Amino acid sequence: MIDKFGRKVDYLRISVTENCNLKCIYCIDDNILNTYKNDILSDDEIVKIATECASLGIKKIRITGGEPLVRKNIENLIYRLNNIKEIEEIYITTNGVLLNDKIEILKENGLTGVNISLDSLNKDRFKKLTKFDKLKEVLLSIDKALELGLKVKINTVIVDDINKDEIIDFVKLTKDKNIDIRFIELMPIGAAKKYKGISNEEILNIIKNNFKNIQVENKSKRSGPANYIRVDNYKGKIGFISPISNCFCEDCNRIRLTSTGFLKKCLHYNYGIDLKKHIRSNISNKDLKELIYLNIYDKPQNHLFMKDCDDKENKYMNQIGG
Ligand code: SAM
Repeated sequence: MIDKFGRKVDYLRISVTENCNLKCIYCIDDNILNTYKNDILSDDEIVKIATECASLGIKKIRITGGEPLVRKNIENLIYRLNNIKEIEEIYITTNGVLLNDKIEILKENGLTGVNISLDSLNKDRFKKLTKFDKLKEVLLSIDKALELGLKVKINTVIVDDINKDEIIDFVKLTKDKNIDIRFIELMPIGAAKKYKGISNEEILNIIKNNFKNIQVENKSKRSGPANYIRVDNYKGKIGFISPISNCFCEDCNRIRLTSTGFLKKCLHYNYGIDLKKHIRSNISNKDLKELIYLNIYDKPQNHLFMKDCDDKENKYMNQIGG
């Protein structure tokens, strides 16, 4: 469907839990993990909302969290979402720790591709960033996903004084593997307000200083908000997602459903609607669809991450889903 600024909205991100098996320093704060099981939408409730969203034009779903793979029976939920007739693609964003064990069934149940978040290729630093010694598991998952022929993207956030020196190591991962690495600028949300990110322009300059041939890739419908380059004819691409230095709101095509059933119109603001309350009051499908329609239509024009405003989102990223 088209929102009031003429943008086509066809992408729904569904967070299925706030819990995570890693504790990335810029993402999560244990003190805010206080949701009860009953606060979280059930599979039936998620499928109900996704079905109405699909009838309004949503074609692509991404499952996120917290860590989506810690949700019980996530493979069954993916199967059910994939069976919604209008849904063409279903992706997951995961830290990869549990992916190796689940990936075959996820693929069988309709998963199109996987984004794996990884901020360090160094065992000790991985532990410093995530509080867990799980790098080996993540690397195994990446290889397994590739082996199964799934589209694999790695999402990397550079935190200035922690992992900036690994930018080139990440780029080198694309040499022989069919992987895209995407650098995502650190957004000042929740725990990240304490850290300093770096701009993607600075990352690009570091890459340019280290590689001879930089080829700018044409933007395709599948590129989403990322701009891509390829270095030295490597197999994979390098993407830049720059919400801070280069706001891409004019092409925003997404809405977000939190695990507690709040339909968010924009990552940055607290605007949206508590769909759980309505579903649990037995709203009709027709009225549910109308509420979703009104919320999508009314998406804000753009975020204002770098400005202060009263209606700024106060949630942490693990509560929103990235
Ligand atoms: N647990 C899953 C994972 O690790 O991919 C899904 C949830 S996690 C919130 C999704 C993504 O958000 C991760 O790639 C993470 O690095 C990113 N993220 C978290 N906080 C962020 C922030 N403040 N700015 C930019 N990206 C952030």
